[in-house]
Parts: sequence; structure tokens; C-alpha cells
Amino acid sequence: MSTLRFHAIKKSLASKPVPVDETERRSDMFGRNVFNESSMRQYLTKDAFNGVMDAIKFGKKIDRNIADQVAASMKDWALSKGVTHYTHWFQPLTGGTAEKHDAFFETVGDGMAIEKFGGTQLVQQEPDASSFPSGGIRNTFEARGYTAWDPTSPAFIYRTTLCIPTIFVAYTGEALDHKTPLLKALHAVDKAATAVCKYFDKNVKKVSTSLGWEQEYFLIDKTLAASRPDITLTGRTLLGHSSAKGQQLDDHYFGSIPSRALNYMRDLEMECMLLGIPAKTRHNEVAPNQFELAPIFEEANLAVDHNSLLMDIMSRVASRHHFKVLFHEKPFAGVNGSGKHNNWSLLTDTGVNLLAPGKTPTSNLQFLTFFINTIKAVNKHEELLRATIASASNDHRLGANEAPPAIMSIFIGQQLTKVLDELEGVTKGKLSPQEKTELKLNVVGKIPDVLLDNTDRNRTSPFAFTGNKFEFRAVGSTANCGDPMTVLNTIVAKQLKDFKIEVDTLIDEKGLKKDEAIFNVLREYIKTSKRILFEGNGYGEAWEKEAEKRGLSNNKNTPQALKAKISQKSIALFEEMEVMSKIETEARYEIEIEAYIKHIQIEGRILGDIARNHIVPIAVQYQNTLIKNVAGLKDIFGENYKAFAKEQINLIEQISNHIESINGNVTKMINERKKANAIEEAEIKAHAYCYNVKPLFEAIRYHCDKLEMLVDDEIWPLTKYRELLFTR
Ligand code: ADP
Ligand code: MG
Repeated sequence: MSTLRFHAIKKSLASKPVPVDETERRSDMFGRNVFNESSMRQYLTKDAFNGVMDAIKFGKKIDRNIADQVAASMKDWALSKGVTHYTHWFQPLTGGTAEKHDAFFETVGDGMAIEKFGGTQLVQQEPDASSFPSGGIRNTFEARGYTAWDPTSPAFIYRTTLCIPTIFVAYTGEALDHKTPLLKALHAVDKAATAVCKYFDKNVKKVSTSLGWEQEYFLIDKTLAASRPDITLTGRTLLGHSSAKGQQLDDHYFGSIPSRALNYMRDLEMECMLLGIPAKTRHNEVAPNQFELAPIFEEANLAVDHNSLLMDIMSRVASRHHFKVLFHEKPFAGVNGSGKHNNWSLLTDTGVNLLAPGKTPTSNLQFLTFFINTIKAVNKHEELLRATIASASNDHRLGANEAPPAIMSIFIGQQLTKVLDELEGVTKGKLSPQEKTELKLNVVGKIPDVLLDNTDRNRTSPFAFTGNKFEFRAVGSTANCGDPMTVLNTIVAKQLKDFKIEVDTLIDEKGLKKDEAIFNVLREYIKTSKRILFEGNGYGEAWEKEAEKRGLSNNKNTPQALKAKISQKSIALFEEMEVMSKIETEARYEIEIEAYIKHIQIEGRILGDIARNHIVPIAVQYQNTLIKNVAGLKDIFGENYKAFAKEQINLIEQISNHIESINGNVTKMINERKKANAIEEAEIKAHAYCYNVKPLFEAIRYHCDKLEMLVDDEIWPLTKYRELLFTR
């Protein structure tokens, strides 16, 4: 083992679990650092409290006077907890979160100072944001973008700073973040779903979206991770021969959590508690050193904020425990990658989960209405849904025979398949009394209210119904859930809006009764959306062929997939639902294409560096040892030396061949990169990176990994897979 690797491993083994002092009950800690309803009750006047509540529940505007009161109370609350600074906290399109801290502290002349924070600072800020990506919306001449308070997500204290969740928009009004379109999509689905709910219950005033994400990640010793330039710069290994033992024994999944990792998780969960993130589940995942954290689901906007915040907390807590968290979708070849399942449902203000079967025929008809409309929405916009989860890193996962394929389909389970089959047979137009009774009793009435245990949980489906919610499984582990949530809620909103119009038309113009009209429309939906339903193995080749026959898209890489974001259909959809303007949609496309190019470019550069400057020199060094050995054998045995040096000579030749292939391919890659960089148009450039640059990574890697198996372990410079994945 090389000295470098030896010391890294030694240091890693010496990292004892960091003790975690957990003396308080979690329920007592929960939300302590959040300016939530209970702290607001304590700190706000009644008027201010009601003002904020109206804003949260009904989207009412908060007037200046109330904003001033809220700001003053927030400041008092924060100061009582030793906080010195405040920041608007937002999620720009770079990924991650952004903050710019300002002190409460202000001088007031005569050498005096006070702590100050008013409504103006709470409501709006102007960070110097000219370096955030805007897809050309905001050129650097007119660098003004501003952040604006989102009262629906409570302020919180993080690292002694009062953080105020905000949207981030250009001075001209275009969204520059993940939250703005999400809030609009949530509003759209609320409006459309509430209108549909009125068919079943006139009391429903609001429908909110619930999201429960499941965050998968790898936990790698910090020193070992730092010993790999590829992990340091790209969050994944660009090369490395597979370990003799990987995940084939299935001994990690749900296994006992290693002590150091467990202490990390406990520490992390306590931070979550203080910040009101309802972390609930923790377990080992399939690959060695791979884990998952899942919270109790929350209102979608809050859940998205919590996931972004969590990813930040995770990296910090990991550092404390001498770990590095890898969020990358595929940090290691040959073992499972990571995803972020988005569990999604719709919930009324009367407490009904619209995607849970009910106890009465009416509630079941309501369930079927939302269930089938979702299926229709996904069918119609499957390509857009695929686009929303596209990224350079998720490309490694989708369609890589372990995660959902790049083809969107919906799994609903046997029981519901049967129900849909029966509904499809409903007579067109008016129903006979007999048929109505039959429907009520035997079709709608027969759906059991608990499907959870019956739903055979097809893990290969990208979008599965799991009893009382849909689970969008194709979302990548690095993703901001805001994007998939924006798209899903927008397409469902549009679908529900259309549904309402169709049903009303049948009632008003054809004189059908409400239930008849609903049955009629749903029947047509089932007929026209069937191709999206798939119960089989999503990883199989047979499905790819079948999906093609069904006319489903199969966009295997990001440049291909992203196109759907700027199709006429998508632009019209976002415009109609008032989620994004054409300019905003196109800007996002631009940003994502650019991000793709940059990711592949960085990977290419670092791979070239490692291959040429780390691996080839070591291979040459080892080859020299062999050459010396052969020369020595010649000295001893004279012309007979070949009988003793056959294998060494063979090795020398093999090493030369690999070196030649590595250098040849690196040169090719650099040339392809140069050609790609000369291309002006981002889309064509992305294609060049995808089809001409990236394929060379595999070729380079192949030969480097072969060398890893040939070269003396004593001098191999890169920490090996077994060391990264199994050192505990
Ligand atoms: P798993 O899929 O890992 O077997 P579960 O199905 O129990 O686990 O739940 C996974 C996630 O689904 C959790 O984060 C949970 O909070 C979330 N979830 C459960 N019900 C809903 C719902 N109605 N809406 C959104 N998310 C939900
Ligand atoms: Mg799940």
C-alpha cells in the first residue's frame, strides 16, 4: 500500500465515533429554532399573528405595518437566542442555498449602537446577485435581482443567524430560483383541485400538496475522500477498479448501522429537530456506506426548503464526524446509486388525503377522480416529467439497470388495475339505475380503504402508486425537489382544470347527473392514458421495446431530455397555469444545458489530470522495476533469461499498451473538448460534450482500472474502492 494511502487509512481508522450528547427528548427539541406558530403566538400581537396566518393559509398580502411588527418580534426572539445576524435565505439555480448575512447591529451616532431589524429588511433585500445564473434574463449590466419574504415557510435560526426563506427574482420580475415557480404551481393545483373537490364536498376551501422525500447518500471517511481528486472536485469517482466484494452479499441493506455513522445520524437528527425538520427514518441502503434519511411528509414548499437545508446540515455535521457526504447519484461504478424519492399527495383543508381510498362510494369516487387525473396528466406530459429530473449526474442512474429507467411509466398494482378495467366498461352517456347501483356497490364501493399492504411495491417503476400517494422515484439525490414538484403540480393542475370543464359541459349541455358525468369523463381518460400504465420489470429490455411501441419517450441523456422543457406544449402549459413565462422557461433550459456542459467539462479535465499525472507516471515507475528485474535476470542467466522473465516481459508489454491507450484517449478527449468549446450554441455544445467527449471517459477509465490490477499495490496512488467503501 502506498504511503499516502496507508496514512489516509490509518487516520480514518483512528477516527473514533464522536460522542453525541442526547439528553433531551426530541419532541422537546422539535422546532426550538424556528419562528413557528407557537413562537409567533408568544411574540406577536394578535393583529400581526392573524395577518401572518392569513398570508400562510390564504395567500393574503401582509401590509407594511404588520411586517414591521413581525420583524420586531422576530428580532426579539432571535436576540433572546444569542443571534447576531440575519439573512434572506434562498435557492438560486446554481443548486444549494444562498445567504448574505447582515448584522442587526447598527450605529446611531454619539458612539451609540442598537440592534435593528424592520419590516423593510424582512420583506425585501437586494443581494448583489450578478453572479447567479439567470440564463440571460439579467445581464450583468443590470445586476439587480431581489429576494422577497415567503411567509409560508417559517424563519429559523441556523449557525447563529436568523434565516428568512425568500424567493429570488430579477428586477424585471422573472424568477431566478426554485421556489418562485413552485409557489405558483402549488397555487395552481390548489385552485384546480379545490374546484374539483366541490363536486364531492362543498366545504373544501383549500387543497395543499404534501411531499415526503427520501434522501439517499454515501458517507465516506473525510481523509479517504480528500485523497481522491475526483471525489473532491466532482463528488464521484471517475475511475477505480471494482472491489472484490461490493454489494453482492446484500449484507448492508437494513443492516446494523456502523457506530460512527450512527453517531453522525444522531447528531444530524438533533440538528433537524431544532430546525423543525421532522426526520423520522434512518437506515443502511443497498450499497456499502450508503444510507437514507426520510422525514415525515410536510406541505410541499416547506418540505422543499427542509430538504435544501438538510443537505447543507448534512455536509456540516459530516465534517464534524470526519465524514464527507456524497450526494452524487452515482459516486461508485458497480454499486447502487442514490435517488431522492418524492412521495406526493394532495390534502384538503378538511383533512382528506385525495389520493387515499375512502370508506364510502362518494369518497372513493373522489379518490378515483384524483387518481385517474394524475395518471392522465403524467401520460400527457411524460416527456416533461422526464426532463425535470435530467442532470449530468442523474444520467448515470436513469436507465442504468438499477434505478428507474429513463422511460416514464406508472405502477398502480393489481387491485387498482382491475378497478380501472371495470370503469373502462361503463356505458357512454346516461347510466341505467341498475348500472349506477352496480357501479356504486361493486366497482367504486369495492376499493378497500387500505391498499398499502396490497400494493405490490414495484421498485423498478419511476412513478408508483403506493397506497395513499404517488412516489416519483426517478428524482436524483442531488436534485432540488422544487423542480419535480413544480412540474408535477402544474401538470396535475392543468389536468384538473380541463376535467372540471369537461364534466361541467356534460352536466350543463348533455343533462347528465354529476356522477354520470364524472364516470363518463374518467372512462375516456382511462382509455386514452393506458399506455403509461406498466406493472412489469422497468429495468428489462423488453420494456424498452414495448414502451417504444406505445409511443413513450426514452430520452437517455440530459441534452436529449431537456428539449421537452422548451417544447411548444410545455411553454404553453406553464404560461396557461401562470407558473412560468416563456422567457423564464427558456432561461431555465439555458441554465441547465450550461450546467450540463460545465459538469462534463470539469469531469473531463480532472480525469485527464488523474490519468496522465497520477496513473501513467506510477505505471511507468512499476514498469521500470520490471525492466530492472528483467535486466538482472539476463545478467544471471544470460541468453536463457527468457525462461525466467516471460511473465515480467508480458507485464511490461501490457503496461505499455495500457499507457498508450490512456494517452491516446486523453489526447482525443482534449481535442474533442477543444472542438466542443469552440461551439457557440449551447445546445450543440452540450451534444458535443455528450456524444464526443463523455464516451472517452469510459475508454480512459477502462485502461486505468486495468493498470490498477497490474501495478504494485505498494505504489498505487489512488485510494481504492475497497478502502473507500469498507474502511469503517
Ligand atoms: P418507504 O417508501 O421507504 O417504504 P413509506 O412509504 O412509509 O416508506 O414512506 C416514505 C415517505 O413517504 C415518508 O417520507 C413519508 O413521510 C412519505 N409519505 C407518507 N404519506 C404521504 C403522503 N400522504 N404524502 C406525501 N408523502 C407521504
Ligand atoms: Mg419509498
